[in-house]
Amino acid sequence: MHIAIIGAGVAGLAAAQKLTERGLTCTIYEKSQGVGGRAATRRVHGCHFDHGAQYVKAPTPELEALVRTTTDSTGASAYDIGRPVWTFDAQGRVYEGDPAQNADPKWCWPAGVNALGKAMAQGLDVRRGVTIATVAPQDLAAGDANAVLFTAPAPQTAAIIAASRLDAGVQAQLLAELVRASYRRCISVTFAYPRCPVLPWYALVNTDRGHPISWLACEHDKTGHAPAGLGLITAQMAHDWSVAHWDELAPTPETQRRRDTEPAFLNSQLLILNSMLQSLIGQELGEPLWANVQRWRYALPDAGADFERLNSCGSGLYFAGDYVAGQGRVHMAIESGWRVAQLMKYE
Ligand SMILES: Cc1cc2nc3c(=O)[nH]c(=O)nc-3n(C[C@H](O)[C@H](O)[C@H](O)COP(=O)(O)OP(=O)(O)OC[C@H]3O[C@@H](n4cnc5c(N)ncnc54)[C@H](O)[C@@H]3O)c2cc1C
Repeated sequence: MHIAIIGAGVAGLAAAQKLTERGLTCTIYEKSQGVGGRAATRRVHGCHFDHGAQYVKAPTPELEALVRTTTDSTGASAYDIGRPVWTFDAQGRVYEGDPAQNADPKWCWPAGVNALGKAMAQGLDVRRGVTIATVAPQDLAAGDANAVLFTAPAPQTAAIIAASRLDAGVQAQLLAELVRASYRRCISVTFAYPRCPVLPWYALVNTDRGHPISWLACEHDKTGHAPAGLGLITAQMAHDWSVAHWDELAPTPETQRRRDTEPAFLNSQLLILNSMLQSLIGQELGEPLWANVQRWRYALPDAGADFERLNSCGSGLYFAGDYVAGQGRVHMAIESGWRVAQLMKYE
C-alpha cells in the first residue's frame, strides 16, 4: 500500500510518521528544498532566527512527548523560552501579558523551530524540489499510489484539485469546502542591531489588530540564535500592511545584490519599519547591521475548512493542515496529520 503526500510541512510529516509506523509506504513530495514548511528557521550572517512559527506549544501528553524527544542537529533538546509575551495596542502602548497564557511553555530548539520538521522527516522518503500540479486518482490503483494526502495550504491544495481530472461532483464538493479557508499574509522582517536591548518581555503581540506590526520578538532571547551583545528582532507585519507592501519588498536581483554587498542597505519601507520597531520597544538600538525579509502569502488561516467534509469524499483523497484546525498553530497542524492518518484505514 502506497500513500503519496503533498507537502513536507509538519502536517504531512506527522501523517507520514503514523502511516509508516503501520507499515504503509509513504512518499512525500515537497516543492521547496527544505522540510518543515512554515515552521521555518533561516541562517544569515552567523545568526539564525525563526521567521515563520516562533515556537511550538504542546498542550497534550502526545505532543509534549514529541517535543521532548526531538533533538536538533547538534543533539540539543527543546527548551522553554520562558520569558513572557506582552501586548500592545494600535497606539503602540505596551501592557503586561496574560499570566495564564504566559505560564504555558513556549518550546524552541537552539538550532531553531525548524529542528522539529527536520527530526520528523528522518527516515521518511521526502522528494524535495517537486511541485505537484495535478493528481490523477483514476490512475492511482494501477500506478504509483493508492491514496493521496494533501497538506499544502488550502488555496494551493484547491489549485491542484481544480487542475486535476476528478469526478466533477467530488471536485466541486472539495473546491466548495477548500474555498472557505482564507489566510492572512505576513511579511516577516528580521533586523540585527549592534545593541541588545534589555526588556521585560520576549515578545509583544498586537491585540486590537490596529497596528502595522502584529508581532515583535527578541530572537536574541533564544538560546544560540545570536552572538552575545547583538540585538536580533523579528517583526511580523499585519495583513493589510503586508498586502500594501508585498511587491515593494519582493526580492529582486538588485536588492539581493545590494544586500550581499552592503548588508546594512535598507529600502525606504524598511527604514520606516525600523523606526516603528524602535519606537515600540522604546529604546535606541542604533542603525541595523542587516535586515532579512520573508514574505508568507499563506501565513495564518483566519477561517478554516471542515475536516470531516473534506475527508469524506472517498476517492482516495485526504486532507490535513492547519486550515482544517482553523488556526495557524504548529501543534494543531501536527494533530490534523495524526487525525487524518487514523482515518486512512489502509493496511
Ligand atoms: C509568520 C508566521 C508565524 C507563525 N507563528 C506561529 C507560532 O509562533 N506558533 C505556532 O504554533 N504556529 C505559528 N505559525 C503557524 C504555523 O507555522 C503553521 O500553522 C504550521 O507550520 C502549518 O503546517 P502545515 O503542515 O499545515 O503547512 P505548511 O507548513 O505550510 O506545509 C505545507 C507544505 O506544502 C508545500 N507545498 C505547497 N504546495 C505544494 C505543491 N504544489 N507541491 C508540493 N509541495 C507543496 C509547502 O512548500 C510546505 O512545505 C506561524 C506561521 C507564520 C507564517
